[in-house]
Amino acid sequence: MTESARYHVVPVPAFKDNYIWVLRDDHYAAVVDPGDAQPVLDYLSRERLRLTAILATHHHADHVGGIGNLLRQFDVPVFGPKDEPIASLTRSLSEGERIELPELAAGFQVIAIPGHTRAHIAYYGAKDLFCGDTLFACGCGRLFEGTAQQMHVSLGKLADLPDETQVYCGHEYTLANIRFARAVEPGNAALAERERTETRTRQENRPTLPSSIGRERATNPFLRCSQAEIIASASRYLGKGVTDPVQVFAAIRNWKNDF
Ligand code: ZN
Ligand code: FE
Repeated sequence: MTESARYHVVPVPAFKDNYIWVLRDDHYAAVVDPGDAQPVLDYLSRERLRLTAILATHHHADHVGGIGNLLRQFDVPVFGPKDEPIASLTRSLSEGERIELPELAAGFQVIAIPGHTRAHIAYYGAKDLFCGDTLFACGCGRLFEGTAQQMHVSLGKLADLPDETQVYCGHEYTLANIRFARAVEPGNAALAERERTETRTRQENRPTLPSSIGRERATNPFLRCSQAEIIASASRYLGKGVTDPVQVFAAIRNWKNDF
């Protein structure tokens, strides 16, 4: 965690609703989850930046599909999770490892957050969290390769980070997520306020990201499975009473799948 990290973070939109995050200063850049190379190459050449590293959170094509073409132009390290099928990784990472991006004076700690995929990781450093498709603004990723139990634990690890942690996730899903969150927790005033704010943000065609861990703790139903109103909603959805937070989580994750 370098307090002196001198990068700032820029979203490069890709596909329909992906964000490729570019960490940059005046000369150098690193890129997180480049699902497509072209928008990154366009950005780098327009800004006259040299790519110095590629970071991947998980193996889905919309996060790693551009790596090969970026490597044709830049001979850089490629960081990503151990035990996921990602071609051309130069360093496979597990829980607790650190990576350094010396050109940007930045360092990141690896947090294992399985659930969306079996070995999904997040990068955490200098109060920034890059969390791919695990924690979304007001939502969470689908369970493709993991269990509800795993995802609940993974989200709990992220929720324990400091409130001011900036959350950079992989997709602009925020308004749809908020619509679901409002159905699950209609009495949450912070959530109602967030709906107003983020609706305006999207009307102005701006990203709703980064979020913060504090905002997610206050409004994201998947981090709030011990709240009475969410327990009641999950029980109503299931048609039987549940109280265990993992069961509550599993219920609202299923509910969201066909909301
Ligand atoms: Zn994914
Ligand atoms: Fe994705």
